[in-house]
Amino acid sequence: MTLSLTCVSCPKGCSLLVKYDSADAIEVSGNSCPKGKEFGVSEVLHPVRFLTTTVALSDEMAKLFHAGRLPVISEKRIPREDMVKVSLALKGVVISEPLSVGDRVASVMGYDFAASCSLI
Ligand code: SF4
Repeated sequence: MTLSLTCVSCPKGCSLLVKYDSADAIEVSGNSCPKGKEFGVSEVLHPVRFLTTTVALSDEMAKLFHAGRLPVISEKRIPREDMVKVSLALKGVVISEPLSVGDRVASVMGYDFAASCSLI
C-alpha cells in the first residue's frame, strides 16, 4: 500500500510517499531530513499529534482579561484516536488564577496541557 502525506514536523511541509506492506517493511521517500522518515513511519503505525485547543476562564478571569478562553497545547503528542476523548475531558477545566505561558494548566487522561499565552 502507498500513502501520500505531508510531513507536519516542521513548516517546510515535505511531500512524503510512504510504501508499506508490513510494520517491518516501510519505505519513506520525499523527506528532507530524518524527522520526515519518523513521521511517515509513525503515520502508518500509530499517528500522533499535539493537541491545541482552548479551556474556559472563570467569570472573574474573563472580566479581568476581556477574554472567555485560554489557548492551550498538549505537552506531548497524543494518539489521534484519543483526540476527541481528551478534548471532551478538557471541557471541565476552568482557569481561575493568573498564569504565564508554558505553565501547566490541566492534566486529563494522562496528558498534560500548558498555557499558550500569559494571563498576568
Ligand atoms: S521531512 Fe524534515 S524538513 Fe521536511 S517537513 Fe519533515 S521535518 Fe521538515
